[in-house]
Amino acid sequence: MTEDTIAAVATALGEGSIAVVRVSGPEAVERIAPLFRSKTDLREAKTHTVNYGWIVDPADGAVVDEVLVTVMKGPRSFTAEDVVEISTHGGIVAVQSVLELVLRSGVRMAEPGEFTKRAFLNGRIDLAQAEAVIDLIRSKSNRAFQVARRQSEGALSKKIVPLRRQLIELLAHVEVNIDYPEHDVAEMTASAITETCGKVLEAVRGLLKTAAEGKILREGIVTAIVGRPNAGKSSLLNALAQDNKAIVTDIPGTTRDIVEESVSLSGIPLRLLDTAGIRETSDVVERIGVERSRGALNEADLILLVLNHNEPLHEDERRLLEELEGRPVIVVVNKIDLPGRLELDEVRSRFEAERIVEISAKEGTGIEALERAVSKLFFGGSIESEDLTYVSNARHISLLHGAAKSLQDAMGAAEEGIPIDLIQIDIAAAWEQLGEIVGDSVGESLLDQIFSQFCLGK
Ligand code: GDP
Ligand code: ZN
Repeated sequence: MTEDTIAAVATALGEGSIAVVRVSGPEAVERIAPLFRSKTDLREAKTHTVNYGWIVDPADGAVVDEVLVTVMKGPRSFTAEDVVEISTHGGIVAVQSVLELVLRSGVRMAEPGEFTKRAFLNGRIDLAQAEAVIDLIRSKSNRAFQVARRQSEGALSKKIVPLRRQLIELLAHVEVNIDYPEHDVAEMTASAITETCGKVLEAVRGLLKTAAEGKILREGIVTAIVGRPNAGKSSLLNALAQDNKAIVTDIPGTTRDIVEESVSLSGIPLRLLDTAGIRETSDVVERIGVERSRGALNEADLILLVLNHNEPLHEDERRLLEELEGRPVIVVVNKIDLPGRLELDEVRSRFEAERIVEISAKEGTGIEALERAVSKLFFGGSIESEDLTYVSNARHISLLHGAAKSLQDAMGAAEEGIPIDLIQIDIAAAWEQLGEIVGDSVGESLLDQIFSQFCLGK
């Protein structure tokens, strides 16, 4: 158990109707009790109770805020330590004043991710679950949230643990063989290696297959909306954003001056590139110049090419259609509420029917068809995998690749009749790499690196 007591604001900073100061550690109750004026003395409060009262400054008795204080005694708490959560009124002032008092009472400010780190160190959750907490905080769509939640509940770990058990049993078998190297035992061992490693390898590959989908759900599909001025790019963006008001977020531009925005299309997060250019209302000045479009086009996982149903194809558009053949394009024929002047046949000769969608951004029609087309392009029609155990974390993916390689090496070596004690090294490596996913056998510095990605208060 860790010995000191830590605190931080656990809710997002800013305006909200309530905010929570979370305190965790052996002295959590003892330190907060003197600050809490109420019918009940916090020291006598039962575990898992919510207590009404006021936070007061013990120096002068001044009331700081009216609060609800939740007491959760370890090990039945998030960190497995004693936890006290003070729900204050929202707004920065109330919660900061309460936090200040708490820190003055001899509680240390928590580092980012320290609560989750303690939950991990105290054996409440494993590393894959802890990392899923980061994903939960960051998830950009409902779907990504569900995937992260499943993982935080231990879905991935449940798949990894039995694989490691099979490998450790195999290692035990191999060990016996090294001690008693009779010939028939050696043959049995070689076939056991091929069989077990083969089974584990198949399972590892299965997990890796989900990685591509997992990455998309977690990080979003990088999407460029392109088209001539007036085709309806801004209107399409607005139509997409409208359906998703709650999840539209501004991600500050990265290295370049490109602003990104996320919308969710039936659970698939789209990261829209260069929305600054698209949002620009004065389309007279073509903000998405050819140069900028080019950059966005090269970077995009998905290109939405917007054409105007009401205008004949322009030579720029003909060139684009040609250039974009073979790329992940969906042609969005906009303004179908207006009379058709566009040479649709020409578009159809270059792109499959399922890649062409007719919409009216103005009237909001055809958006579902667009959703289906995107889903088809990226997930073969459906993203409903039987279970939501997507491997989406880069660290997990590289460890799974490493384990697969070691298993393949072991199998190859067994077939070639290489001495068992050499093969043992590969099997042990696979066992260790899988272990790193769930946090067995990871070093302190990697832990620090992982947990420092958290925001404060988690
Ligand atoms: P952008 O230059 O490609 O971003 O195009 P805008 O989204 O700014 O749209 C250009 C004009 O077309 C605006 O006057 C829009 O109101 C209009 N517009 C966009 N979509 C539609 C549509 O589906 N139907 C109709 N009738 N007009 C549209
Ligand atoms: Zn525009």
